[in-house]
Amino acid sequence: MSDFRADLHCHSTCSDGSFTPIELVQLAKQIGLNGLSITDHDTIAAYETAVEAAQQANITLLSGVEFSAGHKGVSVHILGYAFPFHSPLLQAFSQKHQLRREKRNLDMIALISAQGMPLTLEEVLGFSPQAVGSIGRPHIALAMSKKGFVASPQDAFKLYLTEDKPCFVKGEMFSVEETIDTLHQAGGVSIIAHPHLIKDEATLRDLLNMPFDGIEGYYARFQPYQNARWLDIAKKKNWLITGGSDFHGDFKQNSSLGSSWVRSEVFSTLQKHATAL
Ligand SMILES: [Zn+2]
Ligand SMILES: [Zn+2]
Repeated sequence: MSDFRADLHCHSTCSDGSFTPIELVQLAKQIGLNGLSITDHDTIAAYETAVEAAQQANITLLSGVEFSAGHKGVSVHILGYAFPFHSPLLQAFSQKHQLRREKRNLDMIALISAQGMPLTLEEVLGFSPQAVGSIGRPHIALAMSKKGFVASPQDAFKLYLTEDKPCFVKGEMFSVEETIDTLHQAGGVSIIAHPHLIKDEATLRDLLNMPFDGIEGYYARFQPYQNARWLDIAKKKNWLITGGSDFHGDFKQNSSLGSSWVRSEVFSTLQKHATAL
């Protein structure tokens, strides 16, 4: 199976992707992927429908999730894999994240309205009827653009919704340690997501000393030479090296599904971990 490819990082309508979990599975099949993991932000709801779809499409599905966490005020993304598809523990942790996000959304919407751009949560939900799970900034940005407050969702981010801009709210964050621990308790593995994007070296140093099981060494937005540092670190630590596209569909114009992948060795290691539970 030398041409085996599995994309281990993508988002569905359960978070900020524009494809439903079933559509993602079908797209993966269409483009010839052998394996897939859907890693929605702070929810594993995709697996309610994706498991059956993958069986029908004859694609091997690996459970996955991307949790947001905070370390000394810096936001960090942590990928989790190979836990039971419907893990009650992770469903409960997702629920805690959901409450955190809801509060943050309401705080941001209040700031937007206070800037003379009246907006309600109902309107945000109305412009993203397919988004069943983690509503967040992309959906707020879309609503701001649909209401004519800004020329495009990108402008909404640039002018209002990124750090230091007037309508940005950081929100409560769970610690990296708690997130790693929860994933381990659920029987899964914890992976540092896209280390390429962590600009703060002190944060990176701290993370590399935490009990992770791997690092996302292959990330579609970067050239092979930019991955080298992470592959080197992973080898020294005997960590897993994962990879994926971080595909979001139409919400973010970035990498297409399957534009970064792992070979069968990594995928089967994770598969074995999942089936041994
Ligand atoms: Zn991320
Ligand atoms: Zn992601």
